[in-house]
This record gives sequence, structure tokens and C-alpha cells, in this order.
Amino acid sequence: MATKSKSAPKKSKSEYQSLREHIHIKGARSNNLKNVEVLLPKKKLIVVTGLSGSGKSSLIMDTLYAEGQRRYVESLSSYARQFLNRMKKPEVDFIKGICPAIAIEQKVTTSNARSTVGSLTEIYDFIRLLYARIGKTYSPISGDLVRKHEVSDVVEYIQKQKNGTKIVLMIPIQKRYERTLHQELYLLMQKGFNRLYINGELVDIENKLESKDENLSKSVTKLKEPIHILIDRFAVSDKEENKKRIADSVLTAFSESEGDCVVQIMGGISVSYNSRFELDGILFQEPTHQLFNYNNPYGACPKCEGYGRILGIDPNKVVPDDSRSLYDEAIACWRGEKGKAWLNQLIQSAHKFDFPVHKPWRDLSDDEQLLVWKGNGYFDGVETFFAGLQAKTYKIQNRVLLARYRGRTNCNDCKGGRLRKEARYVMVAGKNISELINIPIDELYVFFNKIKLNKYDAKIAERILTEIQSRLQTMIDVGLSYLSLDRMSNTLSGGETQRINLTRTLGSNLTNSLY
Ligand SMILES: [Zn+2]
Repeated sequence: MATKSKSAPKKSKSEYQSLREHIHIKGARSNNLKNVEVLLPKKKLIVVTGLSGSGKSSLIMDTLYAEGQRRYVESLSSYARQFLNRMKKPEVDFIKGICPAIAIEQKVTTSNARSTVGSLTEIYDFIRLLYARIGKTYSPISGDLVRKHEVSDVVEYIQKQKNGTKIVLMIPIQKRYERTLHQELYLLMQKGFNRLYINGELVDIENKLESKDENLSKSVTKLKEPIHILIDRFAVSDKEENKKRIADSVLTAFSESEGDCVVQIMGGISVSYNSRFELDGILFQEPTHQLFNYNNPYGACPKCEGYGRILGIDPNKVVPDDSRSLYDEAIACWRGEKGKAWLNQLIQSAHKFDFPVHKPWRDLSDDEQLLVWKGNGYFDGVETFFAGLQAKTYKIQNRVLLARYRGRTNCNDCKGGRLRKEARYVMVAGKNISELINIPIDELYVFFNKIKLNKYDAKIAERILTEIQSRLQTMIDVGLSYLSLDRMSNTLSGGETQRINLTRTLGSNLTNSLY
């Protein structure tokens, strides 16, 4: 629906018309405008046409948009305003019935080398938030869920035991400082602890100090037998005050030991708890939204500093024509006189590990291609070849050769995911955040629509998921479903950038806005 409305309305009648239906501009004089007065209907798509230089932009951008933007900014707090450019009041008598204005300009504005489709559309920011709120960390060693124990976990375990069960709560002796056992025990006594648990027996600290144990003069860091300090002992009962006492004791245990405690059931098993975010000997990072921010040194992969790509040997330059087989010299750096020796080493031993040297490079499996890069016991791979050149860069021919194959390649620490490895241990619905940013938006949309969460997580994530889904939907609606979130913004076409900007403004849910 296009209304051409550039003619001035009838005299002064507009004054009485409802400002709900129209925007009234009077006496616009920006640039070459000569006291233009217009009445623009609201909630309509308006096309302003005319000869170039006739003042279309002066009226719409310099007057209407400028005033809308200025008034919107005026309404913000002075704190927010300091980040925005001060706007000049446009030359106009008055504009009535104006709404907050958003203008989409026809130019590619992004110059930030780090911005991506994900950050431009703000989808990545919401995904980051989602991972920080409901992400679960899994240990790369055992694949088990990492969680830190709370006081309530320990209390619950103790309360689950039969009434009357005798329990000893203790902590391992601390080995953080270079003290002798004698010094450590003396300090403990001063802090009010008076019993130890050694080899299944309770020992008075005082007696231990007076004993002739030769360990007393040894450093605690060199102790061989485990020594525990008794924090409390009690019998399990249903009484509320008993529960409170246990909770207090567990808290003391955690704070005294910086996160460790042991529950020993008398005549039974002992269970260790720790309140650190730790498993399999690794101390994990608790998910925060900074952990998933590759523009922040805390979250960025330390090797590529969050770019996802590093300067290295470009595989496309090493194998410029993937229709050739290894035998047919697919590896460009192994063609020359010197390189030939490396190739022969592979070809002559290929039958020993059943390698198809006559298959075109592109038909080799990923594992087979990787093998050529890495090498094995029978031959040295491409990586070794380049490492050899790298080691002798004082030779000019090596520098020339290296320069010929140098290019931007995926960082092999983060595999292009840009984040430090701790961030990749965090999963939502079985996927880590790096796996989500390199798939096309339509696949991502399916993932988020089918996502299954437990009741508790679903409640936390509800609002964030709505934001993500609506933005993904808009991206699909404007025909950009083929892009992935990690696509660099400086590789997008002007039209793509413009449509992404549209998504961002539409996604922000400002109602009654002026475009
Ligand atoms: Zn990296």
C-alpha cells in the first residue's frame, strides 16, 4: 500500500485532527525545503518519490527522522544520553504526533573485523545468556556432569541414613603451607579442634603432639598416611535442631578446608564431597556469559585470541587441485626436487597401511586426509615438512616456500569456535555453543524449536528462547536462512547486511515505530 502524500493539507483543519492518525509537519526548512507542510497518515507504508534533489531525504531523514530520534534520545536518562551523539533540532516549525524513529540506511556500515551475523542480529548474545543460565558442564575425561556440592547435598546424604547411625564428619589435613606436622597440629588446637582421625581411629591432638611420632618433625606436604581432622560427630535423627547442627558443621568443614569434607559412617563407608567446581582432577569454570564471549580475553581462545583463525599453512594452497591424487602430485609443496623425497616416502610405504595413493584428494576420507597432514610411523606428514622449514628460516629458500603456502586457517585449538576450551565443555541439549554457531540458521531454528529441557531449566530459559526463536524466524523470513552465526559481517553483501539490520530492529519489539 503506497500513498503518495507530498501535497500540503487544507488550511489549519489539521490542527483539530487526531494526532493519533497523522504526523503533522509544518514549516520544514532543512536544506532546500521551502516551508513544506505535510500530513502523513500513521500505520501506513509511505513511499516518497520525486526527482533527485527535490528534497525527499531532507524531508524524511533530516526532518522527520532527525526529530523523532532527537525526541527519543531526550527521553533517555542523562547517563544513556552521554553515549549518543547530540542531535541538532531540525529546522521546522513543528512536528506533531511523532513516534520513535528508526531509519535503515542503504549502506554497509560495519567495519568491526570481529562482528559476525550472530553479534549483528544479537542472536549470539541471547545464546550466550542461555548457556550461562542453563548450560551443564561435562568433564572431557569421564564425560560425567560436573557439579559442585552444596551444604544441602551433604546434609541430605546424612539424613538419608537410618536413624541412630553414627557419623563422623571430617576434613583432610591441609597441605597448603610448608609447616611441620607439629606446627600444623598446634595451630589446629588453637583454632579449637581437638581430635584427629587416623587409620580408622580417633586420636587426641594433644596426645599426638606429646607422642614420639617421627612424622611430627616432617613437613605436612610430605606425609604419607592420610590424616583427617574431626569436625563433628553425631547420630542421625529426625529432629530439626539436629539437621541445623549438621548443616553448620558441614559449612565449617567446607570453609576450613577450602571445599573438602568427608562423611564417615562408623563401621561403614566414607564419602567425599567438595564444594569446588571440580571433577577428574580438573577445576572447571562455572558458566557465566563472559565465558562465552570471544571478544573478551576471559572467554576467548588463547591461541587465536578469539578470531577463530590464525596465520598458518593454508590447506587450500597445499592442495590447490583436489581432483588430483597423491600419486598425481596433489600436494603442491611435495612437487619440487626436494619435496619429491617426502612424497616418495609416503608412496613407497602406502601399501603397509593400505593408503589409496591413486584416489583423487577430494574422494579421500577426512581421516585419510588428516593422516597425510600428520604422518605416521612410516612417513612424515605435511605438518612435519613445514615444521622443518620453520626451524630453518635463516635459509632464504625456506622463507620463500613458507610464504607461498601461508594463509589464514582455522585455529586448531578451538577449531574455529573462537572460545577457550572450558567454554566448550558446557552443553545445552547435548550441544556446545561452538557447534551452534557454524550451522545454517534454518538448522539452528529446528534445534531451538525441538529443544527439550527439564521443567526447571525450561522456566529459566523461557524468555531467552522466545527472543532467540523470534530473531531466527525473522532471519528466515527475510531470506537469510542459509547464513550461519559465525559468518563474518565484512564478508556479507550490502543487501544481506541491510536485511540483517532490519532483523535487529524488528526483533527489538518496539511497537508503533516509524521506519
Ligand atoms: Zn582458537
